[in-house]
Amino acid sequence: MTATDYDLFVIGGGSGGVRAARIAAGYGAKVGIAECDRFGGTCVIRGCVPKKLLVYASRFGDEFEDARGFGWSVGETGFDWATLIANKDREIARLERIYESNLKAKGVTTFAVRARLDGPGVVALSDATRIKARTILIATGGHPSRYGDIPGAAHIVTSNEIFELKALPKRIVVCGGGYIAVEFASIFAGLGVETTLMHRGAKILRGFDEELRDGLMEALAARGIALRMEAVLEGVAECPGGFNLALRGGEAIETDLVLSAIGREPATHDLGLETAGVRTGPRGQIIVDGYSETSAPGVYAVGDVTDRVNLTPVAIREGHAFADTVFGKRPVKVDHSLVPTAVFTTPELATVGLSEEAARAQGFELDLYKARFRPLRNTLSGRDERMFMKLVVDAATDRVLGCHVIGPDAAEMVQMAAIALHLGARKADFDATVALHPSAAEEFVTMREKWVAP
Ligand SMILES: Cc1cc2nc3c(=O)[nH]c(=O)nc-3n(C[C@H](O)[C@H](O)[C@H](O)COP(=O)(O)OP(=O)(O)OC[C@H]3O[C@@H](n4cnc5c(N)ncnc54)[C@H](O)[C@@H]3O)c2cc1C
Repeated sequence: MTATDYDLFVIGGGSGGVRAARIAAGYGAKVGIAECDRFGGTCVIRGCVPKKLLVYASRFGDEFEDARGFGWSVGETGFDWATLIANKDREIARLERIYESNLKAKGVTTFAVRARLDGPGVVALSDATRIKARTILIATGGHPSRYGDIPGAAHIVTSNEIFELKALPKRIVVCGGGYIAVEFASIFAGLGVETTLMHRGAKILRGFDEELRDGLMEALAARGIALRMEAVLEGVAECPGGFNLALRGGEAIETDLVLSAIGREPATHDLGLETAGVRTGPRGQIIVDGYSETSAPGVYAVGDVTDRVNLTPVAIREGHAFADTVFGKRPVKVDHSLVPTAVFTTPELATVGLSEEAARAQGFELDLYKARFRPLRNTLSGRDERMFMKLVVDAATDRVLGCHVIGPDAAEMVQMAAIALHLGARKADFDATVALHPSAAEEFVTMREKWVAP
């Protein structure tokens, strides 16, 4: 048993922890970081990055089909899951190495172990090392919620395992209605898998603008995904060639694979939080103030473990702001409003700011601007899929409160629109901006007519 002193010890080498460690070290702090799995965390190893690679893979079928309308003859095509996974693994391993070497380049000491708090200012590592640290940052992220109590739950895989799948199933049932469930349903459908999306709610994507929720459900159904809303899974049993799913009400569905994406939980189990007086909330999330400090002085937490806005760029922001505040002597609070976000289905959905419903709930009188059109590319490809764009505007001030898109490149458009919203853009500023033609994004600056209810 040894004791080593650090200015900062970080538990968790994902998006938030790594950023905080690097920035704090840059301010001259002596920093250590423990990661019990792989540096890079959820985003790099089993989240955003591998998922987006699979999204790209799932879209080539459209490219081959659409090419015909543009004069191309496309020969026989084939898809090999094993090649995709091997190439994805290689890229993820490369990124993981970069994460670790960036830490080392800043002088951060890395520990490939599990860590937990063991009293105020003390971290116990799973190799029996004890660390003393003036400041401790918890950045342990989250993990998928599991169906704990239904028969056959052990047969269900989560997003953690799906990236390691040995073979592509012929049929899949994806359970859940959040963005991860919807994205995986779209990925597998795009790869030719017979896909069912099963959700206990009436609609997917709770919290998003209702028109986006409806629009995406229509688009996914049109692409052949079987949407089973208000369906509750009660059991999974092995059957010849796959699994039999028992639904509430007596219905059964047969499939080859069940993927559960029913939510995520903060990773606070067995972290010794009680030994240091770190308080948690009802979901197990660590409660923090605007500077990410917990109820225990000197103990901070950032990222998904705090269950604020569970996205990579937010975890990174929080980690950076923590390091600026504590080691850079420059107090920074993270603004959690106007965080742009995308759902990487096909078609893609992206949004920034308030939904129509959230804006009304906050008491705004609204002007709405909407465009629904066939993108130029679809005229020759023959694809009958529409693009949908919507601006939610405060009628009193003309300020744009929300910007919503379903269609190709939605994420790329909304990232740029987020800058305008961040600057407090009014609808008149959108109107005064010259269109970039021909593009789909130009609709944002050419929508002149207020939408009137039919
Ligand atoms: C399938 C999927 C897709 C996603 N897609 C997107 C997306 O498109 N865009 C987006 O912005 N976000 C996306 N996210 C969310 C994003 O990945 C997370 O918000 C982000 O990774 C959170 O970063 P973090 O630093 O809080 O935690 P994490 O990245 O989860 O890192 C936490 C790390 O702590 C380690 N750890 C845990 N406990 C201990 C311990 N006791 N000791 C040592 N180490 C420990 C873990 O192994 C992990 O590496 C996705 C998530 C998933 C699951």
